[in-house]
Amino acid sequence: MDPSLSKLAYLLAAVMFIFGLKRMAHPRTAVMGNWLAATGMAFGVVVALMSSEVVGYIYIGVGILLGAIIGSVVAVKIKMRSMPQLVALFNGFGGFASVFVAGGALLSNSEPGWEGLLATAVSGLIGAVTFSGSFVAFGKLQELKAFKKPFPVPSQHMINGALAVLLLLLISGMATGIAWLYVLIVLVALALGVLLVNSIGGADMPVVIALLNSYSGLAAAATGFVIDNNLLIIAGSLVGASGIILTQLMCKAMNRSLANVLFGGMGGGGSVSMDVDEVYANVRSTSADDVAMILDGAQRVVIVPGYGMAVAQAQHVVRDMAKLLEEAGAQVEYAIHPVAGRMPGHMNVLLAEADVSYDKLKEMDDINPTMETVDVAIVIGANDVVNPIAKTDPESPIAGMPIIDVDKARTVIVIKRSLSPGFAGIPNPLFAADNTLMLFGDGRQAVSDIVTAIKDN
Ligand code: NDP
Repeated sequence: MDPSLSKLAYLLAAVMFIFGLKRMAHPRTAVMGNWLAATGMAFGVVVALMSSEVVGYIYIGVGILLGAIIGSVVAVKIKMRSMPQLVALFNGFGGFASVFVAGGALLSNSEPGWEGLLATAVSGLIGAVTFSGSFVAFGKLQELKAFKKPFPVPSQHMINGALAVLLLLLISGMATGIAWLYVLIVLVALALGVLLVNSIGGADMPVVIALLNSYSGLAAAATGFVIDNNLLIIAGSLVGASGIILTQLMCKAMNRSLANVLFGGMGGGGSVSMDVDEVYANVRSTSADDVAMILDGAQRVVIVPGYGMAVAQAQHVVRDMAKLLEEAGAQVEYAIHPVAGRMPGHMNVLLAEADVSYDKLKEMDDINPTMETVDVAIVIGANDVVNPIAKTDPESPIAGMPIIDVDKARTVIVIKRSLSPGFAGIPNPLFAADNTLMLFGDGRQAVSDIVTAIKDN
């Protein structure tokens, strides 16, 4: 293909990415945005194949076919609640691909200049950190036994610092023309990726996933410089930039700095010394019939969904309950915490799937100042995001994380199966508060029992 024609085609694909991203900003246009960006990518791949001297069409074809089959099967089969793990894997494979493409370019280029060598080294470094870091993040989110607790590394921050300095030296060495240092860079970066994510745990994993997503974009952009492909540079930069913006937004949602998340060693899954029996001494449980009676006179009801709603797949029956309450004259809203569930926007996606009107979803900052006027707050499978400890215990893994102030509502109904902790692994005094009643049970079953009881009333 004529080089100027391929550049024009790349520009068109880049425009499709940008409009695709723009459309992903709203649930109503997000599906379309995804299609637009995916079409842009497919178009870019075809143009890349037509504009370079391709030697192994068969290998590429088989690769695309295998990748498409594996990707489709995994995407169809994956449970919604495991989506963050899948994203972590995708990030990891993206980084891995950059390591191999940059390495392959190095092998096929007999006389690379220092710029090419530098770009290759950076690509290998970021790609390898992304790969190994993402796999540790996957292990933690999947709650694999080996990753449940960080493995002990003495003076970890010092070792990380030493590895970072070593990498800088290796990259400088490579830029002076010693190409084989690439292998060392990749190996050291793999170790660094593991160590960086190893010490981060529990409640901070969402931020890590967003950051690794950004890294995978940066690795791709660096690879774009290696193989001189503008589309890869643009696509990688878009992923890198959007990933870092998401990271910042999530840090803000947790009231933490990025440095604190990465090096603070907090969120390790619950290390607060609290006597659980003491915290839960005054827990009061209730029944679906009683909840229906309490809701009977409520004017303003706020539903606070969390990870448990996703596990129970309770979103449809929650919508049915809200409809019944609205028909009885109550105002019903949904309070959405930015890190509720296991991925950014998790609750928005679930509620959109159940056709809950988007204007009923209220962001935490908008709803919190009005919580005192709420008659009944119904917490469904949420725990950390409503835990008042975040405000009161500076030693807690979620210290400083803004929460939805359900404790200020007149009555709080908490629906969950037991008094087990949430993701951060800490007790929640909300469950024993004077204005809280616990409705123990599976989220979907409990809400459908409430629906039946409301109808029977
Ligand atoms: P939590 O993980 O704090 O709590 C979820 C609660 O749901 C559990 O306590 C569990 O209690 C309950 N639950 C589980 N299954 C069911 C069921 N079938 N029916 C009813 N309840 C159920 O969730 P939150 O949404 O409050 O907080 C999210 C946490 O996850 C935060 O710590 C956040 O930092 C972290 N995180 C967020 C990500 C994101 O991007 N949103 C990604 C990764 C982590 P029980 O077992 O007693 O039923």
